[in-house]
Amino acid sequence: MTSAPILHDLFIDGREIAADDGRRFEVHSPHDGTLVASVASATVADVDRAVAAAERAFREWSALTAYEREAAIRRATAHVRTCAPEIARLMALEQGKPLNQGRSEVIGACETIDYYAAEAVRIEGTINPTEHRNFRSFVVHQPIGVCAVITPWNYPVSLLSWKLGPALATGCAVIVKPTTVTPLSPAAFCRALVAGGLPGGLINVLPGPGSTLGDALVRHPRIAKIAMTGSSATGKRILASAASTLKKVSLELGGQCPAIICADADLANAAKVAAYKGFRNCGQSCSSINRIYVHRDVAAEFLDRLRSEAEKLTLGDPVANPSVDLGPMATADGVETSREHIADALAHGARLVAGGGSPKTPAGPSGRYLMPTILAEATAAMRVMREETFGPVIGVAAFDDLDAAVRMANDSDYGLVSYLFTRDLAAAHRVSEQLEAGTVCVNHGAVNTNYGPYAGWKDSGYGLELSRRAVFEYLKVKHIKIQL
Ligand code: NAP
Repeated sequence: MTSAPILHDLFIDGREIAADDGRRFEVHSPHDGTLVASVASATVADVDRAVAAAERAFREWSALTAYEREAAIRRATAHVRTCAPEIARLMALEQGKPLNQGRSEVIGACETIDYYAAEAVRIEGTINPTEHRNFRSFVVHQPIGVCAVITPWNYPVSLLSWKLGPALATGCAVIVKPTTVTPLSPAAFCRALVAGGLPGGLINVLPGPGSTLGDALVRHPRIAKIAMTGSSATGKRILASAASTLKKVSLELGGQCPAIICADADLANAAKVAAYKGFRNCGQSCSSINRIYVHRDVAAEFLDRLRSEAEKLTLGDPVANPSVDLGPMATADGVETSREHIADALAHGARLVAGGGSPKTPAGPSGRYLMPTILAEATAAMRVMREETFGPVIGVAAFDDLDAAVRMANDSDYGLVSYLFTRDLAAAHRVSEQLEAGTVCVNHGAVNTNYGPYAGWKDSGYGLELSRRAVFEYLKVKHIKIQL
């Protein structure tokens, strides 16, 4: 897929440098397994270098006015937009995301950062009435300092922007640790922001393994905040490690998202949204629809419609065919888990409606391509209905009573997003209130918008991202009381 492997270094203080011990790791194409890049693997000594650079940048950046920061950020994102095709190419090579979807992800990330640039000038404090006429009392917010941003591979640039946006706008400096699966596109995005005029040490990028490098960032005494997206197990580990330094932590974690389809729903729309949210990015999304509860009266028609939506999706080389719907899955583990969930469901009596394995004509030699898979007559005992598959697999069960469907939807350790399809306004309100999730989407799948807070309930998160509330994840509160 690529002619010569890319040589990729750390990015500290605006400079490309090798790792302290010269160690590197490899990134391989999920399409055909070829070597895409050799990447410098940061050490604990590199963390100290990056923290020192970020501290220097923080002093100057946080001293700017919010208006100056807004202008600088907007200039930088204007430059990043011109780099979108190249960043998307790196994402396609390392992650398998079709080029056009990668380009949209980069543009969307710029929009998120711009959204927060505008927030920089809207951060308000308060003035309190006091108990004595000679007292004055103000509450102000100040940037928290150096933040470490730890990101996963499924939306490597988008999920980075959810953290970079509020961090930069509030005056913080950052050290980004992208996952070793997809280090290239997030690093290119950060370098483009600096090439667009942001100070060198403001955004540093340290690729390397989570268990050592990530943990060193989490435990570092001079890093004030950790913002991470990833699995619930890793999130819990990070929260425990951060306790020793009492860092501020925000975590966006796993999901096992249910959809309830009522008998009165617009079934054409429900099937379209279910296919989009179940199979887009090969189901490798925290907000993927993993399990569906459909009213028995419309179950057969809904399954027919969902199958036809699934069969419309095209699979192929994400670089050579930029507009293909699905590329290869990003990791071999992801293929393995998806296959296990399919086999488990079939062994326990599920009926295969679509997909079930690799395409007959392999789209690539890597074995990472999986067809969108629908399993009907699924039960709560099946793994596909309980665990996060993170693959293009949906389990479907029929229900007779809406209250029972809500109970089944809520019967999960996760609480990220729940979907509901109905034309009944009262049911839309009542069920939305009953669903145990930080986000409820009624009749659509447009989950993430800059203005809407994204907060995982239960094992799905800690703190929140997106919306103007996210700026407070990067600010410290100070009460100033003056006696005149
Ligand atoms: P992951 O394995 O938990 O890794 C996430 C990040 O944490 C990676 O950069 C990883 O580094 C790092 N990490 C691993 N162990 C660490 C440690 N002990 N200390 C510090 N950092 C550590 O997750 P993933 O497989 O990349 O991503 C998939 C998961 O993310 C799914 O569960 C999905 O639901 C979740 N997700 C959630 C959201 C949301 O907004 N709620 C969005 C997207 C994805 P290395 O990979 O380099 O080792």
